Amino acid sequence: MDCIFCKIIKGDIPSAKVYEDELVYAFRDINPQAPTHILVIPKEHLPSVDAVNAENSGLVAHIFEVIPQIAKAENLTNGYRVVSNCGDDARQSVKHLHFHILGGKILSESM
Ligand code: AMP
Repeated sequence: MDCIFCKIIKGDIPSAKVYEDELVYAFRDINPQAPTHILVIPKEHLPSVDAVNAENSGLVAHIFEVIPQIAKAENLTNGYRVVSNCGDDARQSVKHLHFHILGGKILSESM
């Protein structure tokens, strides 16, 4: 499958890893929109939030257990934003489910 994030998980494309376990991989966004900008992705290829269902939602729950651990490790003590763009109207550019963690400054009021 020609998915850039699957290639990152396999190590075929380099990335700045911040976290990994058997289900999840997290790395720094190549085009950061905040001082801290991390992408958290499942190792299983799911295209977007729109593909989450009763069979795979445990994986998403696990991602949301990992996110606070990453935020703590990154010292985001004053807060952070978690974003997942889903589909073309949301301008999702990589069709592999991912959650952006943005922080390290006071973020814009608008999304
Ligand atoms: P989205 O627009 O929500 O689909 O987000 C995709 C994100 O992936 C963007 O913020 C890109 O900067 C980021 N991105 C694309 N390619 C890479 C890469 N090779 N390494 C790290 N981040 C990447």
